[in-house]
Amino acid sequence: MLNRRAFLKTGAAVIPMTAALNALDPASTLSAEEVAVAAVREHAPTLVPPPPRMTPIDPATEPWQQRVRRVGQSNMTEHDPAVMNIEEWADYWHSARADIVFISVTGILAFYPSKVKFHRHGKFLNGRDFFGECVAAARKRNMRVVARMSPDLNWPDALAAHPEWAMRKKDGSVQLSEQDPHLFKTCMFSTYMDDYVPAIMREVNSLYDVDCFYTNGWPPIGSLPDCHCAICSKLPASGTPAYWSAFNDRVFTLWQKYDAIAKEKKPDSFFFANLGGNVRCGPNLDRLGKLAAWFQADNQGRTYADPAVWGCSLQGRVCNAVLDGKFAANVTAAYSTGAITWRNGSKNPAEARMWLNETLASGMTPYYHFIGSEDGLGEDRRWQKVGADYFRWTAPHDAHFKTRRSIANIGVVMGQSTQLLYPGPDTARSRTYMHETTQGIYDALLRGRFAFDFVHEDRLDAERISKYRALLLPNIAMLSDRQCRQLSDYVRSGGSIMASFQTGLYDENLSARADFGLADVLGINRAGDPIGTNGNAYYARIEDPDQAHRHPILDGFSNTNWLPGAQNRMPLKPVQNPVLTVVPGFVQYPPELAYPPTPHTDVPAVVLLDSGASRTAYFPGDIERSYWLTGHGDLLRLLHNTIQWITRDERIVHVAGEGFIEIFAWETSPGYAVHLLNYTSPDAQHGWLQSIFPLGPQTVSMMLPQGVNVKSVELLHAGTRAAFSQESQVLQFTVPRVEDYEVAAITVR
Ligand SMILES: [Zn+2]
Repeated sequence: MLNRRAFLKTGAAVIPMTAALNALDPASTLSAEEVAVAAVREHAPTLVPPPPRMTPIDPATEPWQQRVRRVGQSNMTEHDPAVMNIEEWADYWHSARADIVFISVTGILAFYPSKVKFHRHGKFLNGRDFFGECVAAARKRNMRVVARMSPDLNWPDALAAHPEWAMRKKDGSVQLSEQDPHLFKTCMFSTYMDDYVPAIMREVNSLYDVDCFYTNGWPPIGSLPDCHCAICSKLPASGTPAYWSAFNDRVFTLWQKYDAIAKEKKPDSFFFANLGGNVRCGPNLDRLGKLAAWFQADNQGRTYADPAVWGCSLQGRVCNAVLDGKFAANVTAAYSTGAITWRNGSKNPAEARMWLNETLASGMTPYYHFIGSEDGLGEDRRWQKVGADYFRWTAPHDAHFKTRRSIANIGVVMGQSTQLLYPGPDTARSRTYMHETTQGIYDALLRGRFAFDFVHEDRLDAERISKYRALLLPNIAMLSDRQCRQLSDYVRSGGSIMASFQTGLYDENLSARADFGLADVLGINRAGDPIGTNGNAYYARIEDPDQAHRHPILDGFSNTNWLPGAQNRMPLKPVQNPVLTVVPGFVQYPPELAYPPTPHTDVPAVVLLDSGASRTAYFPGDIERSYWLTGHGDLLRLLHNTIQWITRDERIVHVAGEGFIEIFAWETSPGYAVHLLNYTSPDAQHGWLQSIFPLGPQTVSMMLPQGVNVKSVELLHAGTRAAFSQESQVLQFTVPRVEDYEVAAITVR
């Protein structure tokens, strides 16, 4: 028997929430077993504390961009020098409390009297120094300036003089802009990037006082270039691992070169570029995270093809995986993004605000933008109040929005190379295959109210991943030998893993392995090639119909011998005491034939290992993606049960209440911040938010590190303080109502 205090010390400071709350009398005694039983009986997660608080960073040594909290941009058009009211423009962003504004230098059209050859002056420039006037207006109001360039397109005169600058098709013809075929696409391997872009940067540095340089339109977002110019035709074929390597080398060579040019005038200046594409980002994010002084995520709104409301939050998790607390901003569009675009028209305010909410909640800095300035500041000016009100709301709370680090204890491995290069079992749909996989695990984690991080495949070092109770590998097909070793070591040192389908079946060069790279650690062996579906997908037979002794991953399933499998699966060699076995698929039409020719096999449909602190679960099917494609509640329950089993349902933050929410939990300088995004809406998976469906009470419980005491809990959206209780290390409070977003800002002493 242990008394409570002893348990807190010896039990690695692990304490079930309900037991902690119900039995906090210091005189009470509690056996570890009783604690566990109480947790299971009440189905409550076990609270565990976050790591000890970080040593504060001296603000004096912090790079200036780390203090940027609001970014503004009126994306300038060729016509703006004729119509934009510069004072009104600068007043707007200043009144919105923007710390920095993007101003167009460009590269397609010069917004100043550039002397760089082929830097064509805009039609309405008339010799005016429009860029310089904007810089002066911003400076007068103490706003910093990003010099914005676009190196992706240029005009026929440049092409005539430099045919080698163009991207080429397979037949040798020039790749033109899809929307304005006067413009050709420039090749990033050509001297356009070595000569023309640096010439503009140096000219701007010689004429103006700007804080940093930025390129729009390069590197490409979410895909790799496919160019057949003289240089590119000597490179490996686009889309292959070897091409990706050459692409990355070129991106980082240019990035470093541009960064050095930016610093020629001011050592605290830097270069950064437009990024995004979330887990499918073009440049290698591990390398980029080490290099980039500013991660600029371009995630402006959702599309018909990518309709999930959490697109921006997902991007924030990607940034957090590679930045180690460095600066990230996300550009959200005030304009009408989507399958049909109205680039000069405002979007639904509820949708625009949710994208800003997600930016903040996921740890990025909001960057609000609209295009053009017809009629002063635009024909449609409704976007202005939405953004200014939002920015002004954030300003008094900057300390709470600035994150130190996430305190999630589940890591989802993001296989960037798998996302970009892996063809999937159905190569015709390779691009969407991994997207659907990611969305499946994301949706499942949100519905289970798990706090989680993304973990980059190249950052699986023990020091980094030891903070996670479990790592999830949703079909991370490509893993190098080193990555497999790192994951095996993680399991051997007590970490847990859930993996699916072809995880580890390929190395980093997309060469197939004879057996899974994680075969030993997951206790699995390959028994053939992937099997798809013809009509009825396969089923998973419950091998232990005796409900009293069922495995915990089967909690809540009754009155059935079968569960749905997945669309595709890897055949496995038999294992001892399988919990689920495969009932192979068969036709679903005609119904006369819709019965299983082989109703019982010894092929595992899940493989579970329980060894010391570590638990592993492997699903041979593409379960996350199958869940995303169907919404099947059994697959969701199976995923939730399995994640709870491998993590022993240990959570740092638990939020109880009704509704579909996304949770972020951060350590901040004042203390902690728990962000709740309310997606409970018919518009969460289609279109834009039309309105908000507020949620009722959400009870937040979290465990604090020893010696940390809470001073206050403020609800930043409601503008109120929440009553809280702190008993021992367990903090609890209730958020009475969540409209679209609430932030519980916890100040500690
Ligand atoms: Zn090329």
